[in-house]
Amino acid sequence: MTAALAFGVATSPPAVGPRVVARTTAGVVDVGALAERGQVSGGWWRSGMLDEFLAAGRSAWQQVIGELAAAELAADDAALLDVADSHLLLPFAVGDYVDFYCSEQHATNLGRILRPGQDPLSPNWRHMPIGYHGRSGTIVVSGTSVRRPRGQRRPDPTAPPVFGPTERLDLEVEVGYVVGVPSRQGVSVPTSDFGEHVFGVCLVNDWSARDIQLWEGQPLGPFLGKSFATSVSPWLVPLDILAEARIAVPSHHAPVLPYLVETSLTGLDLSLELSINGTVVSRPPYSSMFWSPAQMLAHMTVNGASVRTGDLFASGTVSGEAPDTWGSLAELSQMGATPISLADGATRTFLEDGDEVVISATAPGPDGAVLSLGEVRGTVIPAIPNS
Ligand code: CA
Repeated sequence: MTAALAFGVATSPPAVGPRVVARTTAGVVDVGALAERGQVSGGWWRSGMLDEFLAAGRSAWQQVIGELAAAELAADDAALLDVADSHLLLPFAVGDYVDFYCSEQHATNLGRILRPGQDPLSPNWRHMPIGYHGRSGTIVVSGTSVRRPRGQRRPDPTAPPVFGPTERLDLEVEVGYVVGVPSRQGVSVPTSDFGEHVFGVCLVNDWSARDIQLWEGQPLGPFLGKSFATSVSPWLVPLDILAEARIAVPSHHAPVLPYLVETSLTGLDLSLELSINGTVVSRPPYSSMFWSPAQMLAHMTVNGASVRTGDLFASGTVSGEAPDTWGSLAELSQMGATPISLADGATRTFLEDGDEVVISATAPGPDGAVLSLGEVRGTVIPAIPNS
């Protein structure tokens, strides 16, 4: 397995402050140091964030990717970072955050649990990528601990609501897309322009407090049950690195309105893996997602809403057909009815304090290679005590 070429931001002593870095076959390299030597183009590296490079556009992205691939670095090159001493940070200023609901199996699974006896999919589901606006200010980088949220819930539907730490803390395995080039307000982004606006991919864990979510979410949907934290992987993998992973999503062959028709394929054949405390509990196939990222972007802007550099939109929970491919504990434990087993003999319905959740992914690469997209990791810490 090879690490996919990716961009991030790290601190690495003795250098002071954050640096834009790239993960290459030679190791993790200080991109600004290569630019000072003339091996990489652009004046986008001095801020120590990826934002300027994201805004530079696809021709710049492709040029730098090519330059990094061509740069031959000796093992002792001064531009290579000591990974053990480096600390990866959130690599861009997150703008707006939108979370979609693009997995037909996930939507079906949750529909069956929450609305038994009814059609599990809402009537609009196959006509548009359903989504909601999330909270960008609480997006955290992999490795950041996540505090168990508190809130209102109503465990006994015949009694008044209660307040306290969530008893149904969940995770959601998702794939995120980071916007590089902005669009103009009032102008929709067609599916054909997806590659000109979206820079790349990260992995997302959409932490979810199911009891808070269920009580508050009628009728307006996700709010405090989601907004306490969302974790993202530190490496952004450019879409141009994932050419071999492109596939047609199921909606490619479905009757959709013209603005959702794809002119080129933007679905991705990513293999995801979910671990809790070191036990692999699920392997969700991203190839099964009904809606593609180009369709998400087209839908998100079809009313004239614009996107900005650093905007993040996520796929929604990725779930395949088989139970061992479901991407949330709500599904894996059937909302707490059937606990899952971990390798140490413990069982889980929802997350306990101290649990560590890791989501990783691979993609097919050139010549049969398997590319690693890295991981997003987070540990649950106890709620603030009631006072
Ligand atoms: Ca979600």
